[in-house]
Amino acid sequence: MQQSINPATGKVVKTYERHTKEGIVSIINSVDKTWHHWRSTSFMFRSQLMHNLSSILKSKKEELALVMAKEMGKVKNEGLAEIEKCAWVCEYYATNAESFLENEPISTEATKSFVAYQPIGTILGVMPWNFPFWQVFRFAAPTIMAGNTAVLKHASNVPGCSLAIEELFREAGFPENVFRSLLIGSDLVENVIKHKAIKAVSLTGSTPAGKSVAAIAGGELKKCVLELGGSDPYLILKDADLENAAKICASARLLNAGQSCIGAKRFIVVDEVYPQFLEHFTHEMIAAYYGDPFDEESTMGPMARKDLRDELHQQVISSIEKGAEVIVGGEIPHRKGAYYPPTILENVKPGMPAYDEELFGPVAAVIRVKDEKEAIKVANDTVFGLGAAVFTSDKKRGENIAEMHLEAGACFVNDFVKSDPRLPFGGIKTSGFGRELSVQGIKEFMNTKTVVVK
Ligand code: NDP
Repeated sequence: MQQSINPATGKVVKTYERHTKEGIVSIINSVDKTWHHWRSTSFMFRSQLMHNLSSILKSKKEELALVMAKEMGKVKNEGLAEIEKCAWVCEYYATNAESFLENEPISTEATKSFVAYQPIGTILGVMPWNFPFWQVFRFAAPTIMAGNTAVLKHASNVPGCSLAIEELFREAGFPENVFRSLLIGSDLVENVIKHKAIKAVSLTGSTPAGKSVAAIAGGELKKCVLELGGSDPYLILKDADLENAAKICASARLLNAGQSCIGAKRFIVVDEVYPQFLEHFTHEMIAAYYGDPFDEESTMGPMARKDLRDELHQQVISSIEKGAEVIVGGEIPHRKGAYYPPTILENVKPGMPAYDEELFGPVAAVIRVKDEKEAIKVANDTVFGLGAAVFTSDKKRGENIAEMHLEAGACFVNDFVKSDPRLPFGGIKTSGFGRELSVQGIKEFMNTKTVVVK
């Protein structure tokens, strides 16, 4: 049994039957059978279907945003933007997949030598609840345009989103079983990975989930792409436009109620501008209105689950016990639902959860440093390496810090880190490996085949 629980009320929205072990095998076999046909369809055919999917997403965005609001508390405007972005990634790969996967001639002594990119089969996506449509589409659009087929094991708290996505593929006219959802718990992921038709895995989620999936996939010698947690540092240098930086930092911390792998998590501010930045930042954080996701005025909804909210609060309490100070927030509000207020902790030091761990909610850890050199050192003093941002009015200097000094998969100057279909996305260190999106993303699950004609 799988349940959708509205995090704003704690009430069960709907209950779903889980797939049985036999049901899972039967779905995977069907998807595999479909692959043998799908792999040889033309790019033009796949592209038409992917464009259809994009149009359907756009036409249904209100309805789909509502599914997310009910299951994981996303506010309506963010839900609409998420569906628009899914439509974009479908269009992007519908338009570009063929050119990305063209044969590449390489000159050697042979008459002809080239590299061809060919699909490998059925790919498993293990996906999280925080961007329940976007995470799936950024995996599925390139995978399917490349001629692979896909099965999805979505997070247990978003079965409605999982089935809605499967239905969207049907409505767009894709052959049955090009994309299927499995309603299963994480305990059955091992069985799925071990099925001989599953050729690779893409997982977005926590570091423990990534380690477990990587170990199983490794045992089967199946490739995986892992997009895991992050604790993105945002560096505020002395010549930054502080008001603008504070605005961007607060939005980047509060987006999706702070539940984003590339959310801004640690704010590393140089001594000279620390008080001014903190004042602007506090102003921006308290301006957020957190409330019912269905209320048009809410800029932030509840967290997705009560257990996640309680876990976050424990990290806050433990950081305070170790010397962090609360500037705003930090208390569970007296209301129903998994709400947590925008919170700022200062005086954050190594050894505190706010410094060492990922804070997956609306809590900002502010760290004061002497200068730019120390800011870079603190930014890299983490097990994570997903995104990072630096704020400075000297763009060249910002570019140099982003390119040469920050240990992360994506570094932005004077903006917040965001995913974009045109740019590769992924991390280093315990934030994972492999890349999604762009040309790199579509090549992850392909046979890079060398062909030589003497
Ligand atoms: P999980 O990482 O546990 O869940 C993500 C997905 O992985 C879900 O589909 C989940 O299934 C599945 N999963 C979990 N454990 C395993 C496993 N051992 N083997 C196979 N699949 C597994 O996230 P949580 O919901 O528990 O959130 C916990 C924390 O994870 C958050 O607080 C945050 O720090 C991080 N997280 C990071 C995300 C990101 O975007 N990088 C997204 C979501 C969470 P099921 O739901 O059935 O357990």
